[in-house]
Amino acid sequence: MNSERIPGTKLGEVEILRVVEWQGAFLPARQLVPESTEEEWRENADWLAPDHWLPDTDQAVGTLQTWVLRSAGRTVLVDAGVGNGRERPGSPLFHRREGDFLARLAEADVRPEEVDVVVNTHLHADHVGWNTHDVDGEWVPTFPNAQYLLPAADDAFFGPAGGYAGGRREDDRLLYEDSIAPVHRAGLLTLWQDAHRIDEHLTLEPAPGHSPGSSVLRLASGDDRAVFVGDLLHSPVQILDPTHNSCFCLDPAKAQASRRRILERAADQHELVIPAHFGGTGTAEVRRAGQGGFSLVRRTTA
Ligand SMILES: [Zn+2]
Repeated sequence: MNSERIPGTKLGEVEILRVVEWQGAFLPARQLVPESTEEEWRENADWLAPDHWLPDTDQAVGTLQTWVLRSAGRTVLVDAGVGNGRERPGSPLFHRREGDFLARLAEADVRPEEVDVVVNTHLHADHVGWNTHDVDGEWVPTFPNAQYLLPAADDAFFGPAGGYAGGRREDDRLLYEDSIAPVHRAGLLTLWQDAHRIDEHLTLEPAPGHSPGSSVLRLASGDDRAVFVGDLLHSPVQILDPTHNSCFCLDPAKAQASRRRILERAADQHELVIPAHFGGTGTAEVRRAGQGGFSLVRRTTA
């Protein structure tokens, strides 16, 4: 299934669906979440497998997907995947990838020119790729009429001002130049900090640590609440123990603090948690559990 409506379809007045770019075995489980233990995965195998973990190979399952929201009469995309034809020498899964994401978007009745807002929760390769596409050898914005929203702190860190993340990887410069700079040049990019209200239902706020500008998108409509947490979570084992960072979290202490804060609020305010990369339904309902951890109320098996 390439696009599907999540259970509930609508949260308040906001319609939600997702378009999957790729799904599969992503990384060995404890490479993805280095502080997790084999026991944590095994003890929860009955619901982690097969949506989040493949016990036979000990691989974590990952999904690359874009959440599509119809909110206040507008179309909002949350995260923009990997994209096609990218030079990503440091990321074999992303390097020169070719997929049919735009066809899948069309199947979901999303026409690029009708997209009003593109949210990049943070500036990593798998969240900004479809910001642009290749037209006659040039990277141009895929969504020509959209306002693109990017955390200012990530633009500063990953862009030229920050020496492309301090020059730690060639991929960072490449992805800035093919996925961010063209949107800048087209005048479509809005850099935000502190908080940014999109409409009466949707608000962006910082949750730094995974990257300097990592953010979450809160949805509040009628009695329904949800929070799109980006890469604050790659696996449900990080809900069970929120001290577990992913191997991609740049500031471990800040990432832990943001994860705990956002999960506490989600538990207390009954926000549906919607991470960027979960398999299954892609969502999790969380409650506080003992020793500072959390449990999943409705486990995310499809
Ligand atoms: Zn990601």
